[in-house]
Amino acid sequence: MTATGAPRTIQDRALRPTAKVLPEHIRLNNRTLVLQTLYRAGLQSRADLARETGLTRVTVSDLISELMGENLVIELGQRQEPRPGKPATLLDINRSAFQIVSLDLSGHTRLRGAVLSLDGAVLSSSGLDLAGARGEAAYDTVAELLAQVIAAATAPILGVGIGSPGIVDRAGVVRNAPNLGWRDQPLQARLQELTGLPVRVVNDANAAVLAEHSFGGADHDLLLIKVGHGVGAGLLIGGRAIFGERFAAGEIGHVVVGTDDGPLCACGKSGCLEAWLSVPRLTAAIHDATAAAATPADAERATSDILTEAGRRLGIILAPVVGALNLLEIVLSGPPELLDGALSAATVETLRSRTMATETGDLTLRMTAQGEDIVLRGAAVMVLSAQLGVS
Ligand SMILES: [Zn+2]
Repeated sequence: MTATGAPRTIQDRALRPTAKVLPEHIRLNNRTLVLQTLYRAGLQSRADLARETGLTRVTVSDLISELMGENLVIELGQRQEPRPGKPATLLDINRSAFQIVSLDLSGHTRLRGAVLSLDGAVLSSSGLDLAGARGEAAYDTVAELLAQVIAAATAPILGVGIGSPGIVDRAGVVRNAPNLGWRDQPLQARLQELTGLPVRVVNDANAAVLAEHSFGGADHDLLLIKVGHGVGAGLLIGGRAIFGERFAAGEIGHVVVGTDDGPLCACGKSGCLEAWLSVPRLTAAIHDATAAAATPADAERATSDILTEAGRRLGIILAPVVGALNLLEIVLSGPPELLDGALSAATVETLRSRTMATETGDLTLRMTAQGEDIVLRGAAVMVLSAQLGVS
């Protein structure tokens, strides 16, 4: 988008317009543009903002008055100017006026929650054991954790972001999450009703990719692979999250790798990516191989072989995706002791050998620096994006 929010070229917009642009849309777009500029750049004067956004000084001043009235923007003193004259007043997002509440429901046995700052820093965190709860009991556990985290907030809450396993549609209905025993669970609507706060529910891997984009310095085209009890992916193209026709984009865990069968998967097929790569599968395979090894050196070699094969399988699955979308940035999220080493090395090597070197030669694959807070931070990005239009 250009500074005025209009698409620069036909490449920047969807092919077929679906609605006319109304004056209120333009105002909202400009308001978002000012907030986004402040969110990323920090301290700015009204003149800086006008220059940066391409909006007129009058429009900027008008929007700033509105945003200050909502306590979203504050004045933070004056800039020392080298030349004599009236010093410029510096503005910023009022970063301490609001907090965000996030939940991560992707843990197999434990749900996590946190209060975050508008900059995505975890201010306090808590958790609740799922203790095998499913269906309505799992919902009750989520509601209990949410109440705990809300009570821990020390400023007005901008909104609640939740990363859930399974298929989540645009209305925040969890269509299917086997681990929680949910089918068509209207989680977003129920929790919104319960708390009176704006709530956003997204798939956990989709939340994770947003965290990487906002806080991990990732580019606008990015594939994130989240390895845990299952395997999922989050995809960002041109800075937009891709959800898919049935909201299952990135659900690569039960795609079969290759034609040589492989380990039996919980879904009934053989050789699913998850059967090669999920944390329980890798841990069990390494445990068995280590127990059967005659010497420590044998155990180390067997472990390396298992991780290399898992990485190779991941590379085989990703190669056509990387080739088709010309992706250059892949991020892994999960236990570093499993992913960061022989596994990721094998994935990169497989990707390079299976795609066109001229197009993917500078492909990078790295571990996320977001650690285990990645879903919590990504859920916070959902709230920032929905409530303020910033990320
Ligand atoms: Zn499967």
